[in-house]
Amino acid sequence: MTVRVFATADIGGDAIDRLRERGYEVEVYPDTEPPPKALIVEKVRGGIDALITTLRDRIDEEVFAAGALTLRIVAQMAVGFDNIDREAANRHRVPFSNTSDVLTEATAEFAFFIMGAVSRKLYPSEKLVEENQWTSWHPYHPMLGDEVTGKTVAVIGTGRIGKAFAKKCIGLDLDLLLYDPISEDEEFVEHTDREMQLRYEAEFSNERRAVRYVSFEEALESADYVSLHVPLLMPGESATPTYHLMNVGAFQRMKRTAYLINTSRGPVVDERALYDALINNEIAGAALDVYETEPLPADSPLRDPDLRDRLRLFHHFASGTQETRLSADPEIGMAGRTVQAVIDVIEGNYDGDPTKMPYVVNTEAFEQG
Ligand code: NAD
Repeated sequence: MTVRVFATADIGGDAIDRLRERGYEVEVYPDTEPPPKALIVEKVRGGIDALITTLRDRIDEEVFAAGALTLRIVAQMAVGFDNIDREAANRHRVPFSNTSDVLTEATAEFAFFIMGAVSRKLYPSEKLVEENQWTSWHPYHPMLGDEVTGKTVAVIGTGRIGKAFAKKCIGLDLDLLLYDPISEDEEFVEHTDREMQLRYEAEFSNERRAVRYVSFEEALESADYVSLHVPLLMPGESATPTYHLMNVGAFQRMKRTAYLINTSRGPVVDERALYDALINNEIAGAALDVYETEPLPADSPLRDPDLRDRLRLFHHFASGTQETRLSADPEIGMAGRTVQAVIDVIEGNYDGDPTKMPYVVNTEAFEQG
């Protein structure tokens, strides 16, 4: 029997070829826009064995029910999977996979760069030259930025990306305030502290820098930069949900000179509260890669021209490098990891046991007992 796969987006020729070379029949949705939900349901009902998805596709009970007889794997090309109904997947005993690890460094460096970009006003500076508005060198006209080196950054969520981001911040001699209510990695703190000590002894940094876990409140109140690295968790999904974690109260706690960096998920930030905090100068600025609604609606208040120089907006681009997105090697690329998850399930690798498969997320559905 031919294995049939439907991909809701083109995940790159190299990765798709890995499936075709094995004789799989792969249909790739050709548009850059996501397919309508009805089409996904139709394809699944039509008897596909594997569905390749992106975070744009809502994969819920309707989809899993449509695939009750044939669907064996949903392979998501993202580390976040808030678009997939985990309980529905478990009810139907369909494993779904994600692409953690391979996008960690790309996402972390992007957060690091946009922190610098908004703080040092890279966009207004470029615009000045581009629009031929640069008239002369002046000590402070037409603007100044805020130096990042030696400041304090709060890392909210110290999983893979949060820690990778924190490691990059050591190089700019930032003090690190870590917050994670679920797991505090004391070994990471110890190693970071040792690196800070070494930098100080070698006179790479002129002050002894510090790292520690703190409360959410202390992180917000003490930081010059607040960078979000949490999954989107709705109320009811977690004892510490992240939906609107950054709300009116959170912005009020931040310093007026502080910046928010969000490369996690849009709904982690209450955008109305962020807009108010920015327009009322309650915080200095923000750089966002993700939004409550994506793509960002034309009438979003975040597009207010008055905020342009201190609110930098990116197009959910943090993992967007050639290697990370498209490499067919599962150790390097999201595409490679996505197709390897399909291969593992379809070909019964790891004794056909999803709990042993490295990229399957909902292993609990397959535990014995
Ligand atoms: P991870 O699971 O390794 O880390 C997430 C961390 O958040 C965990 O340590 C967890 O304990 C912590 N956490 C959970 N609830 C929290 C809360 N209420 N407050 C603070 N911390 C909390 O995940 P990861 O690989 O580091 O990815 C994190 C998220 O980044 C993903 O879920 C995804 O949504 C997002 N992401 C975005 C992009 C992008 O392109 N912008 C790319 C990759 C990942």
